[in-house]
Amino acid sequence: MSNTHCAVTNCKTTSYNKLPGVSFHSCPSSKEMRSKWLQCLKNKCSILDWSKSKICSVHFEKKYFDAQRKLKENAVPSIFPIGANVRGSKIDLPVQKTKVDRLLNRVGQAEISADIKNTLTKMRVPTNLDMFVADDLKCKPDSPMEAHLWLLIKKQDYLNKILATQLIQNKKQVEILHKNLDDIRNHKNDTEQNISTLKYIVKCLQEKHATLEEQIEILSAVESR
Ligand SMILES: [Zn+2]
Repeated sequence: MSNTHCAVTNCKTTSYNKLPGVSFHSCPSSKEMRSKWLQCLKNKCSILDWSKSKICSVHFEKKYFDAQRKLKENAVPSIFPIGANVRGSKIDLPVQKTKVDRLLNRVGQAEISADIKNTLTKMRVPTNLDMFVADDLKCKPDSPMEAHLWLLIKKQDYLNKILATQLIQNKKQVEILHKNLDDIRNHKNDTEQNISTLKYIVKCLQEKHATLEEQIEILSAVESR
């Protein structure tokens, strides 16, 4: 059997090194599911061949597997390693010195944020948090550890929200630029078509041996339309 490897960029899973329980999955065959997969994978795979590419089970949420560990029909890959983006956005990670760094790099972004959310819902915000916070957005010296921690979490959450908004705005701007480019292209096509129409009229007139004056007269009429 040849060595199968996962099509996701920066995913190191192969049939030789895969961990127990990790499986490989072929791409869906229906048009509808393929377009869903493409949405998720377009920036995550440098090559996606519907008939040959395999995606490893690491990229699917648990809910997409049945009791026999078979991938369900509606499964869509959504978990990717940090640095899986193919174009431009590949993150250059610093040298992974500690165990935590290494482990963080092994799980996907979606998995980490789900884990954070899970942990947060279990930790209750101190009801009197505002009391411990000074006007410079720092905890007062005698605040409990819990308050320090929660203030940090709130700051991080705030930054995440700003980042998410900026991401959406950037996407919108890219869309507008694409649209402008299309408009320019269409306009250019129109102009080119007009020129070729006029050239054709000139050719017809010349073939008909119309006099120069007649040609000018007809062309002016065409142009003023
Ligand atoms: Zn993989």
